[in-house]
Amino acid sequence: MKRSGRYFPVFFDLRGAAVLVVGAGEVAERKIGKLLAHGALVTVVAKEFSAPARRRVERGEVRGIRSPFRPEHLDGAVLAFAAASDPAANRTVAREARRRGIPVNVADVPAECTFLLPAVVPGGSFTLAVSTAGRNPGAARAIREFLEDHKEEISVRFERGRRRKGIRASHGKVYIVGAGPGDPDLLTVRALGLLRGADVVLHDYLVPEEILSLASPGAVKICFARRGKTAGHGSMLKQAAIHAAMARLAREGKSVVRLKSGDPLVFGRGGEEAEFLAAEGIPFEIVPGITAAAGCAAAAGIPLTHRDLSSSVTLLAGHESDGKRDTAIDWKCLPAGGTLAVYMGVARAKELARDLVEKAGIPADTPFAAVENGTRRGQRVLRGRLADLPRLVEEAGIRSPALLFVGKTAALALAGDPGTENFEEKNHEPVAQSV
Ligand code: SAH
Repeated sequence: MKRSGRYFPVFFDLRGAAVLVVGAGEVAERKIGKLLAHGALVTVVAKEFSAPARRRVERGEVRGIRSPFRPEHLDGAVLAFAAASDPAANRTVAREARRRGIPVNVADVPAECTFLLPAVVPGGSFTLAVSTAGRNPGAARAIREFLEDHKEEISVRFERGRRRKGIRASHGKVYIVGAGPGDPDLLTVRALGLLRGADVVLHDYLVPEEILSLASPGAVKICFARRGKTAGHGSMLKQAAIHAAMARLAREGKSVVRLKSGDPLVFGRGGEEAEFLAAEGIPFEIVPGITAAAGCAAAAGIPLTHRDLSSSVTLLAGHESDGKRDTAIDWKCLPAGGTLAVYMGVARAKELARDLVEKAGIPADTPFAAVENGTRRGQRVLRGRLADLPRLVEEAGIRSPALLFVGKTAALALAGDPGTENFEEKNHEPVAQSV
């Protein structure tokens, strides 16, 4: 801004504004057309009028004065344009206007202008203006053309922003919102809008600070911590406390966002919370999020389905909720040859690998990939064969949150374009790769 000079960008309301244009040739005519389109009251002073300018005078669109410029023509004008063919005449207009404190633009002579006209790209509900402070009109034109080419995209972004602003968290209502796998860019527009407006945010320990910081500064944030080691009872208490807090806050008239990692309806107990709210007669809404399987698959370049390699994807809990002793998974019924996405699996890697091979009949040489901290800082991807899963997970020290993919697709690592960051190599220690 400082470097671009002394100009300050302003959008000026021209409706009903008296504007003087000196000159009535082609350059002046272009300006006159734009000024009229914006509702200005235009007076044109010129010794000669071009045919289009004359027609405007005849139609009463502008006031025409056939005369050399005289300083009194500036009386009452709020803006002046010097667009005559004679540079000396233009200089006089500029000098007289400056003397009277009237902003003046001299066509093609930025040095004599006190204001400049940017290159403009009109959008539906916005105007884009580009200026190089008169130094490089070619560049301004190129940028304008670029913006014109991307107008649709800009419109979509603009619309998204507008919609987000229009999203209001209602009072006395609970929003069960998916926060996605961790990268704030992967929040939905609705999640972001609700988060920004909520009075209270009740969140899981897995929701990172970067996302929580998007809530309004005045919002109360309450974390429901990771479940402790105490099986069964502890977890039930925690869930009961969440239910009680949601109900109390909503009844107090607060707008409540219950923020859960990933998607609220995938292993997040969002279903139970919704059931509870429905039973209590408390208004609620469920806002989906990108579940860890989708986020981690994209981050590691693993296609969940693939024409040649996998026609199904199954979401599994590798570790059932506390208090449920036996897993409810019927291992024999897993679709053969598909991709398995196992949540909460790494802590039980040994039992899991055994069940997958022995009970589900998955070949021990089937590829796996474990994605730790998918889409977050510290993301790591570990790959190998199912038979080696427990050892490799142990050696690499893979910890929760981690998602485990099992199936032929898990061996793929589709790289993005070469310019994008590669988490596997860039951010982190090398990890066992035994495929
Ligand atoms: N509702 C969430 C899942 C909650 S269960 C969702 O839809 O994603 C918690 C488990 O999700 C973790 O143990 C882990 O297996 C997985 N998980 C969540 N976020 C993750 C991340 N960023 N990277 C890897 N796994 C993740």
